[in-house]
Amino acid sequence: MPSRVFSALLVVLLLTGAGCKTKFYFEDDFASVPKIDAHVHINSDDGIFEKQAASDNFILITLNVDHGDSANIRKQFDLASASAARNPGRVFFGPTFLFDTAGWGTREWTDKIIAQLTKDLAAPGAVAVKIWKNIGMVVRDRSGRFIMVDDPGLDPVVSFIKSKGFPIAGHLGEPRNCWLPLDQMTVSSDSSYFARNPQYHMFLHPDFPSYEDQITARDRFLEKNPDLIFIGCHLGSLEWNVDSLARRLDKFPNMAVDMSARICHLQYQSLSDRKKVRDFCIKYQDRLLYGTDVGYSGSRNPEAFMERMHRTWTDDWRYFTTSLEMTSDKFHGKFAGLKLPRKVVDKIYYRNAVKWYKLKI
Ligand SMILES: [Zn+2]
Repeated sequence: MPSRVFSALLVVLLLTGAGCKTKFYFEDDFASVPKIDAHVHINSDDGIFEKQAASDNFILITLNVDHGDSANIRKQFDLASASAARNPGRVFFGPTFLFDTAGWGTREWTDKIIAQLTKDLAAPGAVAVKIWKNIGMVVRDRSGRFIMVDDPGLDPVVSFIKSKGFPIAGHLGEPRNCWLPLDQMTVSSDSSYFARNPQYHMFLHPDFPSYEDQITARDRFLEKNPDLIFIGCHLGSLEWNVDSLARRLDKFPNMAVDMSARICHLQYQSLSDRKKVRDFCIKYQDRLLYGTDVGYSGSRNPEAFMERMHRTWTDDWRYFTTSLEMTSDKFHGKFAGLKLPRKVVDKIYYRNAVKWYKLKI
């Protein structure tokens, strides 16, 4: 072979090889790529979750939840803010507030919440306010009517959060499976959760707001707050259909979603139409945040937790970065990984969380 031809061939080979390396990640890039899990629940001060995150190159955003118990909310705040203080730039958190219906609709009610949030959001590492599905599913006004997220009674609190420049992370509604009988749910993580938590299994509560009521209230909430930065937790409860989620992302430019606890729903849709799911992730690459929703309250066997967390993170990484055939323990069937371009992975796994939560890193 003439040496000029050989050199040209070598250049082409090197270029294509280098192009492949820069366009996509590989499975074993996992540890070296900086990543953010934008939805976890750290409810322990033993440092185990944080230790595994450091080992797997993850920054954590821990979100507090209003279970209707003031002391519990304060405890969550103390743990989350302490973790953020111990791990500056590595752990961030979203405080929440008690939706106490006593006094609902009065000035005192909103003043009290705003005073608490003023203090909580001043803590180092506080990046958002978390609101939860108790709005729409649990809390009721004096007439017994469910209080939905677009209720004008919440307006002063939302205005305050906006005025301080913080986003709201909202877990509103539930997966659509929640309104189905257990044996018709598409993924076993939903059927096992609702079997354990019948109070939230809406199929058993036909007198409660419907799935459509929840989604419509959330949409109305965003319509009346177009300037609010809103991160819809769990794929914005539109996990069952990427087209349906795409319509909301088109309509609400200040809405992003985290994928926590709903990646299995993307995988479930990948069974029948992988291209559609992949195209969705690429088209909305600026609006999707990686997250797991794993909670940790301490463990007698921390090694087992660390191993489980590592496996969860590496399994997800394989789904997004490779085209390997895989299975899920949450439904039957085989599907292939999405093999998203490297720049999309960087956004979903890191840059979007930095941007939407305004992380100071
Ligand atoms: Zn959660």
